[in-house]
Amino acid sequence: MILIIEDEKDIVDLIEYHLKQAGFSVVAAFDGSSGLEQARKKRPDLIILDLMLPEMDGKDVCRALKSNPLTQSIPVLMLTAKSEEMDRVVGFELGADDYVTKPFSPRELVLRVKAILRRKVTPSEGEKVIQIGDLLIDIDRHQVSIKKKAIQLTSTEFKLLVELASNRGRVQTRERLLDKVWGYTYEGYARTVDTHIRRLREKLGKVGDLVETLRGVGYRFREERE
Ligand code: CA
Repeated sequence: MILIIEDEKDIVDLIEYHLKQAGFSVVAAFDGSSGLEQARKKRPDLIILDLMLPEMDGKDVCRALKSNPLTQSIPVLMLTAKSEEMDRVVGFELGADDYVTKPFSPRELVLRVKAILRRKVTPSEGEKVIQIGDLLIDIDRHQVSIKKKAIQLTSTEFKLLVELASNRGRVQTRERLLDKVWGYTYEGYARTVDTHIRRLREKLGKVGDLVETLRGVGYRFREERE
């Protein structure tokens, strides 16, 4: 089920029509606070969130979603009328999983929704739990802990960590990470990987030092702490 949070009824109708054509069930909320309520009650698979909403804007809604344990793992696709890079970065820092700028093609939007939902975690050799020093990643439960203390990650940060950790010792280019974690790539998009890596490192604290930057190449999760 997909939740659309957008105050413009025409846009909701347009998105709803195309998502239903693609086989999704859809619910809609026309302002931020009822959107949050729906998200908590219905736990949708994905939320399409408009940035420009009356009263509580999309950024506040996104912050609220990502700070609530009930809703923080639900992927968020943001809609925005602005196309500047800055807004993308801000959106990703808020924990949004992807962006579509208005005016958008409904087909493109549906493809993005499918790509986000397809981004399944793909650990190597069927690993279910990855333990590296004090870091424990439980893939089925979507839980990460360090010295048994839970670390709250967004769904994108979690997938990024799993991708890096299950390929530990091997260099991962930004393009590969984009492809594996986001499901597609396009020009100029690679810096969003950097933004997510930075956030992930911050959340992991000392363990985050294991994520090495290889300038001009990409990232590598070190096998062991030296
Ligand atoms: Ca709007």
